[in-house]
Amino acid sequence: MANKKVALVRRCKTPVGWRYYPAVIGKTGKLKPCVVSVAGAEVWYPEGYYALRSFSGDQIVYTKLGNNPSDALAALERSTHLRDARQSAAAAGAKIVEEPGRKLLSKAYKDFLSAAVDRGSLEAAEVYELAGDEFLKVIADKTYADEITPDDIVKYHKALAKRKLAARTIANRHKNVVAFLLYLKLDTKTLAPKTPRFEKTTPEIYKFEEMRVFFNSLREDKHQLMFDIYLQTGVREQEAMHLEWSDIDTSTKTLKLRAKPRWGFKMKDYEQRELPLSKELLEELQTYRAAHPDQGPLILGKWNTKKKEWGPDGHMLRTLKQLVRAAGLNCGHCDSCLQTYVTPPRRRRNAKHAPSLPPPECENWFLHKFRATYCTNLLRPHLDERTGLMEAGLDIVTVQKMMGHGDLASTMRYLRPAEGASVQTAVNSIKWR
Ligand SMILES: [Zn+2]
Repeated sequence: MANKKVALVRRCKTPVGWRYYPAVIGKTGKLKPCVVSVAGAEVWYPEGYYALRSFSGDQIVYTKLGNNPSDALAALERSTHLRDARQSAAAAGAKIVEEPGRKLLSKAYKDFLSAAVDRGSLEAAEVYELAGDEFLKVIADKTYADEITPDDIVKYHKALAKRKLAARTIANRHKNVVAFLLYLKLDTKTLAPKTPRFEKTTPEIYKFEEMRVFFNSLREDKHQLMFDIYLQTGVREQEAMHLEWSDIDTSTKTLKLRAKPRWGFKMKDYEQRELPLSKELLEELQTYRAAHPDQGPLILGKWNTKKKEWGPDGHMLRTLKQLVRAAGLNCGHCDSCLQTYVTPPRRRRNAKHAPSLPPPECENWFLHKFRATYCTNLLRPHLDERTGLMEAGLDIVTVQKMMGHGDLASTMRYLRPAEGASVQTAVNSIKWR
């Protein structure tokens, strides 16, 4: 048989249909992503996938590889080595036995995700993807499943911690990566013996006094409404962004949280829920609507100057930080607040040319803290003004439903801060002597 080379090609979607063209390797030895050589010219076809072109006798055989350039290059190298080995073996009058194929990580990962989709667990596929994408990025130097080492798992944890993800989130992501390792039939007892421990910290909540000062500082009705919605419905940021006027039912005084396909918004865990609106909040919503009748379907919409239409506001966290700073409510002792007082000397000397420091964003103010405050308030015992008696907070299962928590454990974390207040009240009301 002639010495026919294996070539790396790319199947491309061209204006005239699907075609195979040679993939282009750049000067650095890396593939130029999506670039192929068409009659000597480099052409970019974003849609397509890589393949190996080899020969079986005189027949051309294409082996599909996927869309990852480094995986494709690795497959080419491996196949070239194999061909060389076969030729040397043949020259020596021997025959080499091919090992059963090693599992390409990128391909196995795709199969793993589609297996979840095939089982009908879209939720699982989604959380697996969230964890898996980053895991594969962290171990980008690995091509095959059997190359994964315990160090890679540690590296992954570190990468997550560096992004300041909550320990609890890291623990969840870890479990999903372990599911992938199990799918690869790897020995998870050796690779990932322990789920990272996460401290069960008490959730941070805003103090009543803080909220009073913050709301008093707000000058625009839009901001007032925005943060009243956060504080009095406990919605998640994505939910708040996609709330529409039609989600309000004035007769039942409720707010419906549901998916918004038109904005590409899905509810977490695919569950709708309905929240009661206080009389004050409902009135505030109606007053705001009457004052701004032409702002599109979204309650907290923002004018998109590029698209020239009202769309979801993705900068509410930034808005919060700016308002807090303007109101002089930055805590002054978190890392971010302190950083701004310690200006590096280099910057000071070159003050004219140095970019101005970004405004300090206090770490003690964030959107999720409103949700935590809401949850705590629901659970907290309160004074019934009509009877003058202390009433218990809402029962935990009701609160779980209102929060849209997937499990009761998430809701139970808020019992402690809620208790804190009532314990304090009790301590104060005891006659000690
Ligand atoms: Zn601060």
